[in-house]
Amino acid sequence: MSASYLLPQPDSVEEEGARAYYSEVVAALGAPTVEVRLATEDGKGKGVFATKDIPEGETVFTEVPLVSLQHIENRGSALVCYRCLRFVGTVEQQIGHKLHCLVEDLKATSTHHQADGDGGAGGSGAAAGAAGPSGAAGAGGDQEGDGESQDGVDVDLDLEEALKAGERLEQVYSHVTPERIEALRSGSEALPLADDFQLPPPVPCRRRCGEVFCGEACEAAAWEQFHCLLCIGPAPAEAAGAAAGAAAGAAAAAEQQGAEAGVQGGGEEVEVLHGVRVDRRSLATFVEHAKETNEIFILAAQVLASTLIRAARALESGESAATTAAAGSLADAGPSTSPPSQQPQQHTPQACQAALQAGWRPYVYGWKRVWWEAVAVPEDVDSEEEFREQLRALAADSLELLTAALHDPRFGADLLTLEVYGSVVGLFELNNLGLSVCSPVEDFFLAVDEQEEGPDKAAVCKLTGPLLDALDAEYATPCEATAFLALQSCINHSCDPNCTAACDSGDRTATLLAQRDIAAGEEITLSYIDVSLPYKRRQAELRDYGFVCKCERCTADLAAARAKKAAGGGKAGGGVGALRAKIGKRR
Ligand SMILES: [Zn+2]
Ligand SMILES: [Zn+2]
Ligand SMILES: [Zn+2]
Repeated sequence: MSASYLLPQPDSVEEEGARAYYSEVVAALGAPTVEVRLATEDGKGKGVFATKDIPEGETVFTEVPLVSLQHIENRGSALVCYRCLRFVGTVEQQIGHKLHCLVEDLKATSTHHQADGDGGAGGSGAAAGAAGPSGAAGAGGDQEGDGESQDGVDVDLDLEEALKAGERLEQVYSHVTPERIEALRSGSEALPLADDFQLPPPVPCRRRCGEVFCGEACEAAAWEQFHCLLCIGPAPAEAAGAAAGAAAGAAAAAEQQGAEAGVQGGGEEVEVLHGVRVDRRSLATFVEHAKETNEIFILAAQVLASTLIRAARALESGESAATTAAAGSLADAGPSTSPPSQQPQQHTPQACQAALQAGWRPYVYGWKRVWWEAVAVPEDVDSEEEFREQLRALAADSLELLTAALHDPRFGADLLTLEVYGSVVGLFELNNLGLSVCSPVEDFFLAVDEQEEGPDKAAVCKLTGPLLDALDAEYATPCEATAFLALQSCINHSCDPNCTAACDSGDRTATLLAQRDIAAGEEITLSYIDVSLPYKRRQAELRDYGFVCKCERCTADLAAARAKKAAGGGKAGGGVGALRAKIGKRR
């Protein structure tokens, strides 16, 4: 309970503070069309309301995520900026990347069964979200509870999967050779029409960890915000292959820039940044564990790292203010004698606490419940208690790895606790927005298809056709990510929402669009799930968010179902059908 000031109980959250925070957030968006009310009339807690009439199709507001992460299972489908999710490289590199990762994945799956003797090389492809449901709204993420396919229970299934993967691999290789995939990845093969789809060249992380960015500005911003504390340092050539291949073009430029800035390609394995002792090798272990268990841990680490940095800055600026004040009282004290944060100084616990509170501010009003309590228990779980304990233990393992990597004598004891960590993970599971960014590869193949019939098109298709055949449905896979947004996370769910969220990767924003006319004073709603699902399925999916939906549509669906039951289970009367038609028309 040491960090209770970081996790105030919802009813004791100083309302004034919350109100001030959200009006700042709304003001920062530059479009005060909405306001946050801390308690809705129907007891759903926070809600976002329109402050003026908003016509259908209008943008309600546009927001930059506080943190976001491309789903790990999606990384093979889209090569995007680690920070802003913008597609990078060229269309050829994107296609080469997709094919390379597809082939690697199929190879792993098809040989997985034979290699089972050595303890089952940690789940191929299914790494993401193996534990607990992901809260990604609208992303269709349906990861199941943990611990199911252990101990080779599904040997038949594994075998079947392995055979299927083998067939698919053969199919891919019947259309493209490994050499062509490499030529596309390295940029030595150019495709016709691809020049129409210009993407920013990838800029690798300054420490060559394998992550790429859409430009030096994004790289620097990520480094400053959180990545300096979370970068795992130079990746082994094998693991870096995918990103490094695509980043090859930008590598030389980045190398030069690195040299100019005096940054070593490798960097130290253990170093102190912002007063935090960072052990890069331990970080790599932490990331590996998160990838194998729950990728949300990586997002949680971003929150904690950015909080540490903000707190360190708050401490520094508080201190320099104090120094300046002190210096002011001594006339002609000369240049400041306090060294710029090189020597760690003693800070009072009060100063540390105030600084940490300042750093934590974007999250203090968002949290609700710790992860292992917030998650809905899958139906096939026998013991709820055991299930929740397993999740708790998993979070504890993850945190242990993180604290081995990040040591902060000022804030660590309060911030890097299981309670705070579990609350951040819970926050994401309950509030995250699924973001989907359309792939330029899809646009490219559509452009090829839309060409006028004739010898020109035939010539182009001769080159692109085999790639399309090899990619199959994968050609259109978008970038899928999960993100936390300060304002959008306050929006309540409805199965017949008046808004939809769209992601614009061009400027790293998520836009909220009015799906119908919204009147001043009306609550803004979004759907956390696929609205085309029937009542029961919707309710089942919403269990993961910890509530029973009582929106107008659900109320009507339920009433209709009851009426149908009362009428002796006959054919559906006008009720349901009529309502569906009404909803359909509104869309
Ligand atoms: Zn970017
Ligand atoms: Zn890095
Ligand atoms: Zn509903």
